[in-house]
Amino acid sequence: MAGRMMTPWYPIIGSRWHIATTSGPLPTGTAVTLLCGLKWTVEYGHRPLRTFQCWKCDYIYRRANGIPILGDHPGAPKKDEHHAF
Ligand SMILES: [Zn+2]
Repeated sequence: MAGRMMTPWYPIIGSRWHIATTSGPLPTGTAVTLLCGLKWTVEYGHRPLRTFQCWKCDYIYRRANGIPILGDHPGAPKKDEHHAF
């Protein structure tokens, strides 16, 4: 996409961090849909010590940005799930 840079965010829900892309910082309380489809309300300053990556967000982000995806990526759709993405 030319001209407009999308900024990746890494919102944390519970102990899992996801990825969302917006065109810039958003005010607290804004509803955002994450790459994996979950909904998140923008909040700042909350960060648990141990977090785990949402592989579905990672997979979708990689696909959208042309970042190489390993064959055994845990977020990749299963071979029999043709409808998943
Ligand atoms: Zn996610």
